Amino acid sequence: ALEVHGVHKWYGTHHVLDGIDLSVRPGEVTVVLGPSGSGKSTLLRVINHLEKPELGHVSVGGEPIGVRRHGARLRELSERAILRQRGRIGFVFQNFNLFPHLTVLDNVAAAPVATGKLTRDEARELARELLTRVGLGDRTGAYPRQLSGGQQQRVAIARALALRPGIILFDEPTSALDPELVGEVLAVIKDLATSGTTLVIVTHEIGFAREVADRVVFIDGGRIVEQGPPAQVLDHPRHERTRDFLAKVL
Ligand code: ATP
Ligand code: MG
Repeated sequence: ALEVHGVHKWYGTHHVLDGIDLSVRPGEVTVVLGPSGSGKSTLLRVINHLEKPELGHVSVGGEPIGVRRHGARLRELSERAILRQRGRIGFVFQNFNLFPHLTVLDNVAAAPVATGKLTRDEARELARELLTRVGLGDRTGAYPRQLSGGQQQRVAIARALALRPGIILFDEPTSALDPELVGEVLAVIKDLATSGTTLVIVTHEIGFAREVADRVVFIDGGRIVEQGPPAQVLDHPRHERTRDFLAKVL
């Protein structure tokens, strides 16, 4: 479903992604771990072309993201075409990023209407379904400020699902939450994982990774240091940097 080919990203002289190759099969759940500043968020932002890589490229479902082939070279797509592609890549942020002036229902219904995929009525019906799925079928008329952090994050997940994305990226979806609210959000993500949605999740929740991930990828200094099944990377890491990191977060 997702291929990252030789991606490099610099901010000025800072080499933030130093040759990332990653391949995620349809339905696979990949958890990305790594220290602060290692490039995890940048990698997710490159995947949906919020950041453009200086070298390499990303493809989703076989289609290059943000670029098209022009002979041997890659050319930037139009902003409009990039937005269309981004609609197929869900993104859930640490800080929810809901629209404060819209109800929960309209937060979820907005994108399918704006992109012309569904009529307003169809989108609202879908939004009701998705909100029920994340356990918020009774809060559709509320505004984001009236919800707990865990509820807001579940709305954000429903919103990501509304465009029926082929893949959903999560950037530390529970790290802004009070500890007692983390479980309800992880339960929703786990439900997606077991229903076959392709997920890439940046998180420090090691127990969750062990339970839900098909693969764990450890990044340090903009490089993939090691990757493999959770039992291998989490319980028998090969590299000292991975061991050091796990000793700190566990
Ligand atoms: P954290 O765990 O703290 O979220 P991260 O692994 O997500 O860290 P990134 O946010 O990807 O790390 O940042 C990687 C490096 O790139 C950091 O050194 C950061 O300061 C730098 N960086 C990120 N975004 C920018 C930017 N827009 N301009 C300049 N430098 C940036
Ligand atoms: Mg980050």
